[in-house]
Amino acid sequence: MRIVLPPEAVPSAWYNVVPDLPAPLEPPLHPGTRQPVGPEDLAPLFPEALILQEVTSDPWVEIPGPVLDVLRLWRPTPLVRARRLEAALGTPARIYYKDESVSPAGSHKPNTAVAQAFYNQQAGTTRLTTETGAGQWGSALAFASALFGLECKVYMVRASFQQKPYRRVLMETWGASVVPSPVADPEHPGSLGTAISDAVADAAGRADTHYALGSVLNHVLLHQTVIGLEAKEQLAKAGETRPDLVIGSCGGGSNLGGLALPFVPDPEVALLAVEPASCPTLTAGRFDYDFGDTAGLTPLLSMYTLGHDFVPPTIHAGGLRYHGDAPIISNLVRHGRMGAAAYPQGKVFEAAVLFARTQGSVPAPETAHAIRAAIDEALRCKETGEERVILFSYSGHGLLDLQAYDDHLAGRLPDA
Ligand SMILES: *Cc1c(COP(=O)(O)O)cnc(C)c1O
Repeated sequence: MRIVLPPEAVPSAWYNVVPDLPAPLEPPLHPGTRQPVGPEDLAPLFPEALILQEVTSDPWVEIPGPVLDVLRLWRPTPLVRARRLEAALGTPARIYYKDESVSPAGSHKPNTAVAQAFYNQQAGTTRLTTETGAGQWGSALAFASALFGLECKVYMVRASFQQKPYRRVLMETWGASVVPSPVADPEHPGSLGTAISDAVADAAGRADTHYALGSVLNHVLLHQTVIGLEAKEQLAKAGETRPDLVIGSCGGGSNLGGLALPFVPDPEVALLAVEPASCPTLTAGRFDYDFGDTAGLTPLLSMYTLGHDFVPPTIHAGGLRYHGDAPIISNLVRHGRMGAAAYPQGKVFEAAVLFARTQGSVPAPETAHAIRAAIDEALRCKETGEERVILFSYSGHGLLDLQAYDDHLAGRLPDA
């Protein structure tokens, strides 16, 4: 069962969870003075509109018309009931997924890339820099930059640059230029932290250039809430009052936040973040102020972190290899509003393959973390006989991750 909405159903405002958080959000601190950062500290990197969204406590933020026009190229995205997966598991649970893989870049990431490109163009920025892990964020920003006439330079984590040439080609097709990071050390496999350092240093050094971040920050999670707002309406159409459990994979927290944040005010809805056991920020990190990047150029964020110099092993879910988490997600976990689980790579790919052999679609390795948790919850319901409603984020497709599937199917995937 597939629940589709007409183009007019794309929400006209983003939902801001900040006033509904269980505790006040701790402000980002200046890396030098350790005092809360002011708008002037962020001005070299971001346009004013995004800086205001980063700190706003308004419950709703209107989506500009030109952003809606682009989002309607693929939104509203479908909500799908995974009946064949349910049948294969023999579970009484009802499993739904919100399919963000239908965007031009194949993931949820264009939802914020389009908004960020728009506000930068409005502010007179002509060039954007960014980092990318597996290449999904870089391709989303390359796509959005092309539509708003901006130059785009992408610093790509070296391990992915070498493992995933097709995403580089996709970015170049949309007109971006792509270099491996860290630029200064060609032997280093890189991490999102090193790539952020390279992209921030580039943007801070040029007046025509701003920086765009694909996850973690408040304004990014804000832009992603179209996912959960649409899903609410679609679940109602499917005759469901509410989901009992909302699940998302968590790298920086943007697809999870996008789907889950609109459900935060409803205490009946449980929320779950799923991360790789090899980069276990929420389940094994410490809650502390830390830098967003490796070099210590960014503001200090209040979050769960493995330390800004942590270099995760080169697992195939490149989008989940980040040492920290969104302050909003960290706040929810810290105060017990959201749970967290970690899975090793092998268990995740078993779930991905079961999904592909029942529902048909081949998920991104990141997405497969959410699928693993959804399956485990459905199997638990089979034991207890609970008819729970499970909603998970199908954050992206895996059609450019087939090397990972080949490694899994051939038994070559290490469980780091
Ligand atoms: C980037 C990415 C993720 C992880 O990033 P979040 O900001 O945590 O969402 C998950 N799934 C896909 C498909 C991605 O591209």
